[in-house]
Amino acid sequence: MSTGSSSSSATGAALVLFSGGQDSTVCLAWALRHYARVETIGFDYGQNHSVELACRTALLEKLRAEFPALAAALGEDHCVDLRGYGALAESSLTRPRAIRMREDGLPDTFVPGRNVMFLTAAAALGYRRGLPVLVGGMCETDYSGYPDCRRDTLDALQKALSLGMGMDFEILTPLMHIDKAATWALAFELGGMALVDLIVEDTHTCYRGVRDQTHDWGKGCGTCPACVLRARGWQVWKKGA
Ligand code: ZN
Repeated sequence: MSTGSSSSSATGAALVLFSGGQDSTVCLAWALRHYARVETIGFDYGQNHSVELACRTALLEKLRAEFPALAAALGEDHCVDLRGYGALAESSLTRPRAIRMREDGLPDTFVPGRNVMFLTAAAALGYRRGLPVLVGGMCETDYSGYPDCRRDTLDALQKALSLGMGMDFEILTPLMHIDKAATWALAFELGGMALVDLIVEDTHTCYRGVRDQTHDWGKGCGTCPACVLRARGWQVWKKGA
């Protein structure tokens, strides 16, 4: 286990898509270990679980206060208003309705083009602030089948953004090929139980925005697809840890 600061040999600058959830928090810790300067970006797209936007602020404050070595590379945070896009791409994540499976097998929490839009906005900011590496928590291992989480989509987008902005972007997805249990293991590797505890207590995953029900894996309704994945991963990791 290593809990020290970002490697003294770390160079370069990265922008992390940081929603305040488990996956993006692990990605942030990962980036802080590998880059000399790390900034964060989050999006308000009218999500029902907008409580995650409050979680991200609290998480950044705690990272700075409780993990000073890890947070040494942590720079500015940017919260971007994309509610206009959220209204265009409405889904069960942005409307007060129950989550259902669609006929094509995707849950209707799918927000069409979400990662394409987020990464395009992130690239525009990265262009302006000299952050050519974009880090996201997309994962195609135990995901819900969202097509914009696939590495193929992101490879094509990386090329389109680089060509379209005349700057070489790299989209890094450290969680792409690992499952939720391995994500908990990676959090432990990056910051020990202190980081795992921070993730349990302060990250938000639940699609319904529930924060008043507490489980050993964190807060949430316990039954939405996001809670089920998080809980299952926790149980598998705890069994093997
Ligand atoms: Zn939930």
